[in-house]
Amino acid sequence: MDYLPIFVDLRDRDCLVVGGGEIAARKVDLLRRAGAKVTVIAPALCPALANRAQAQDIRHRKMTFTEDALGDISLVVSATDDAAVNAQVAAVAQARGIPVNVVDRPELCSFIFPSVVDRSPVIVAVSTGGASPILARTLRARLEALIPSAYGRLADLLRSARQAIRRAIPDGAARRRFLERMLDGPIPELVFSGRTHEAEERLRRELDQVDANTLGRGEVCLIGAGPGDPDLLTFRALRLMQRADVVLYDRLVPAQILDLVRREAERIYVGKKRDYHAVRQEEINRILVDLARAGKRVVRLKGGDPFIFGRGGEEIATLAREGITFQIVPGITAANGCAAYAGIPLTHRDYAQSVLFVTGHLKEDRINLDWANLIRPQQTLVIYMGLTGLDTICRELMRHGAGADMPAALIEQGTTPRQRVLVGTLVTLPGIVARSDVHAPTLMIVGEVVKLHHDLSWYEPK
Ligand code: SAH
Repeated sequence: MDYLPIFVDLRDRDCLVVGGGEIAARKVDLLRRAGAKVTVIAPALCPALANRAQAQDIRHRKMTFTEDALGDISLVVSATDDAAVNAQVAAVAQARGIPVNVVDRPELCSFIFPSVVDRSPVIVAVSTGGASPILARTLRARLEALIPSAYGRLADLLRSARQAIRRAIPDGAARRRFLERMLDGPIPELVFSGRTHEAEERLRRELDQVDANTLGRGEVCLIGAGPGDPDLLTFRALRLMQRADVVLYDRLVPAQILDLVRREAERIYVGKKRDYHAVRQEEINRILVDLARAGKRVVRLKGGDPFIFGRGGEEIATLAREGITFQIVPGITAANGCAAYAGIPLTHRDYAQSVLFVTGHLKEDRINLDWANLIRPQQTLVIYMGLTGLDTICRELMRHGAGADMPAALIEQGTTPRQRVLVGTLVTLPGIVARSDVHAPTLMIVGEVVKLHHDLSWYEPK
């Protein structure tokens, strides 16, 4: 983070704006909205500021800036078109430890103004750290469209009910759950449509009937995090991640996805490496049960889809046996993600009417697969965990009847900025891979459909 976003209370504080033009007027407007007492120093004022001065909404000092103008000032903005004056204001303010903003000169600023969505008391501030104010404004426009204008009323309603809710549900975690449930229910919509009284009534009723015991019950959400690109998460995955108390995650879950989990949630790494189990499966199952029993909302985050080579079934079986409430959120499995991002359709009317997902995991240096069934005409074969056994896989497929010129691809770190697609045939792919310094995870696709990659490739990793 280049800047720490904070919200400053400026009510009745003396703030100084140096400059009397339209940019200065915009900053004055913001400061006034935050309740600051504003003095403007400028030889002349633009019409907007002149109106404010006349209405005694601001104080105008008709002069050029001098150091003693900073007297009891809490915050300064310099918005003149004179670079020397701007630099002087910045230097003097910084020396005195007064927060200062110089418009369009981030290197002179001790704070910058974000783009603001104002639904007071709800305020959303967006910043690009000065990289692109336009980008910040575009994002703000999207948020404006997304956040109903009555959002502030919703916050007011919750504020007025806050004490009553605290009394009724003293436990913090249970209270958070209650509020989340209220916000998922009809109350916000009532407020947005102007039926605030009905909303208050409803909240009161819910509060009367609340049962702190059921609110305190833990649960486990087994969530598929997809193949890597955070954009491929489902809405439900995101919603549940943002209300987790604790998250158990795998090696395959990238940091950008983990960042989307509720900030306060505890994070537990239970990843496995091939042949090396950081935390044994039985132990993971045990931790899930214990945490849920302790009333936690547990998110078990897995790469891809939990039910495809993800041992999701085993974890859930334990939960079911122990009577723990759980739910399962599907994810985009590596085969789907890699196929889409590599431009290799898994089925195609001309080339493949079926598709088979298998694991190429080695067990004691052998791969136990029903080879003869894997190579069928018009069938695409997707092999997970096949990198170490790649040579064996290609050899065995050919030994059981696949043509030497059968197209095959290896997709490395599919859907991520580091994606690479290596394309060859069953004969050439092992050599190509050996020369390419490949890093896990990788997925292998075998079949005529691989030929389509040439024309359908679209994703350009950074
Ligand atoms: N449940 C996961 C699979 C777990 S097994 C899913 O549904 O995708 C782990 C294997 O998945 C890896 O060895 C690799 O073969 C494959 N895999 C997962 N993510 C991948 C990615 N981003 N690119 C390529 N292969 C991936």
